[in-house]
This record gives sequence, C-alpha cells and structure tokens, in this order.
Amino acid sequence: MERDLVIGGDMGGTHMRLALVTPEGRILHHSKAATDMRSGAPDVMKRLVHQCRGMMDVARGMGRRVRAVGLGVAGKIDRREGVVLFSPNLPPMNGYPLAEDLRRALPVPVVLENDADAFGVGEALLGAGRGISNWIGLTLGTGVGGCVILGGGLWRGDDLGFCGEFGHMVIDPRGPRCACGMAGCLEAHASSSALKQGVRDAVHCGRLTGGPLHEACRSDTLTSELIYSQACRGDELARELFRRVGWALGLAVAGLFSGLGVRHAIIGGGVSNGWDQFIPALTESLAGHCSMLGPDETVIRRGELGDDAALVGSAFLAHLRISGPAGVAQLVEHKLPKLGVAGSNPVARSSCLGAPSFREGFPY
Ligand SMILES: [Zn+2]
Repeated sequence: MERDLVIGGDMGGTHMRLALVTPEGRILHHSKAATDMRSGAPDVMKRLVHQCRGMMDVARGMGRRVRAVGLGVAGKIDRREGVVLFSPNLPPMNGYPLAEDLRRALPVPVVLENDADAFGVGEALLGAGRGISNWIGLTLGTGVGGCVILGGGLWRGDDLGFCGEFGHMVIDPRGPRCACGMAGCLEAHASSSALKQGVRDAVHCGRLTGGPLHEACRSDTLTSELIYSQACRGDELARELFRRVGWALGLAVAGLFSGLGVRHAIIGGGVSNGWDQFIPALTESLAGHCSMLGPDETVIRRGELGDDAALVGSAFLAHLRISGPAGVAQLVEHKLPKLGVAGSNPVARSSCLGAPSFREGFPY
C-alpha cells in the first residue's frame, strides 16, 4: 500500500498540470500541457487521458502503481456525480461528465474538486495555511478562485457545488464584464484575463500606441508575465493595472474578513507572482475598507506551494477516497495537528463538509 501513488491534477483555463504524489504529499513527477479548450471538451479529455497514462507509465517505471486520480477543475462542480456544472473559463466543459469518462478510460477511481478548494487543502496541509484554523484563500490565475477554511476544515456551505467563489463577487457594478456574464466581478479586476483586457482596452481607446505591450497585444502574445515585467520596468499602464488588482483584492478581502470574522488570507495562483506590484495597493485598500480590524491585525500571506498547491490538495483527496481517513491520518497528524481537531468548533463540526468521509469525522 505504501508504494502506491495517486495522480493529483489541476485543470485551469491555460494549463493542465498533473503530478505523481505519495500518501505523504511528496511529488515525484510533474507533467504540464496546454488546456486549449478551442478544440472542444472531448479532445481535451483525450489529451488528459493520454497525459494520465503517461504518468501511470512513469509510476510503473518506479515499480509503483497509480490507484486513483484527484482533479481540481475551475468551476462549479457536482462532486458526487463528477460533473463540471459551470465553468466560466472552461465553457466547453459545462455539463461534462469528466470524472466518469476519466474513470472509464484509465480505469481507477477519480475525484473531482474545485481547483481553488484543492489549493486550499494543499496549502492547509503543507503550505502557508499550516497551523491556521480559519482563513480564506484566493487563487489568481486565468480567473479568480477562492476557498474558505474554517475550524481547520474546508467549508462547503450547503454543498451546492461551489463555495468561496470570491472571483464572482461583484465589487463594482459599473466595472468591466466578467467571463461569468456579470459586470464588475473581482475576477474582472484581479485575474490574468483582467490584466490582459486592461491592455487591450488601452490599445482600443488609443491610450497605448507603442512599446512591448502594444506589440504583444497586436500579435496576440500578451501574457500577465509580460505585463508584470513591464510594470517592474516602470510602465505606467502596467503598474496601474497591478494597482487595480491590489485595490480590488483589498476591497474583497475587507468584506470577507468583516463578514466571516477571520483575519488571515492566503493568496496563490500565477498572478500572485506579481506580488510586489499589487501588495501595497492591496494593503492600503484593505485598511481603507475594513472597519472591523486594524491594519496590524490582518495577515495577508502568499501561498507557499506555488503551482503544486492544487496538485497536492487534489492528490490528498484522491488518497482519502481510496484509503479513508486512516490512510491519510499520518499526514494530517504530522503536518497539521489542527486539522485533526476541526470538530472542537461546533460550527465547523456541523458544516465543514467534505468529503465523502466527513461522516466518519474527518474534516474534508
Ligand atoms: Zn464573474
């Protein structure tokens, strides 16, 4: 049993990442491919199956085998049926029975999870959330995902298939259009899509007429990394776009802290690599919008696991599916003692659902 591995996966708007993960949360092998939704869901599935089989071959080469797959996907998820219900950044996946198709093709048990919730589980176990009972997580990528950890467990609300969808909180009703169809969502201000749209808008209205960002926009090679590097070089438009990221995040986090009575936030995802460009504006915006907490009482931390957070989290949930609480207890007890006592908070005891194994008293 201890030689068995699982695949932890993260399907985002841009990339599909997979990892071979031990029951202790150690990553032995990575693979990454473009998501490329333009060819449609069945084609993406075909490539995902191919990528999984490649990982299984790698495991066999190590004398080990893959017993399950955990996959984080951006969007609203029916975890019991393994269906993606609604994914603003992966629209061809809407209604797709992803888990069932993958299980049939591989064939091993497949656990589907929202990618930001998988991020939360990963950071809680092995990253910046270790030892913190209550916190909110935000992932800044193609879109903006979120999670809530309360009483040491992942909060699932009424188990409606989404929770912590902070990216779709409207922070400015007159703001830019979001991929979900609403206007002014956090995601429309603080994601890589928002950064790129900001540059496109500047070109469109004639504010940006030359330079690397203009060129990249014209040749359709614009990336948030380029916008960040231009911000570091002093480009005023790029700096302004990152300040807007910080302003929007500060506003959202202030509301969440006040509403939930928590004071820790952990931020990850690719756009968080632009930390130095948005954190001053975030700090200022948070202080200016949160009357319940003084600036010294709030804690904003950067995720520690980078792109691996959701991989570790989804792998953990896969291990949990096949081995039950006993199979992952060692990791939980050794890495995050507080996870094991989520039940000490009566609210958490009744509402931090999870997982199939929640009924057995486990916080996920
Ligand atoms: Zn939205």
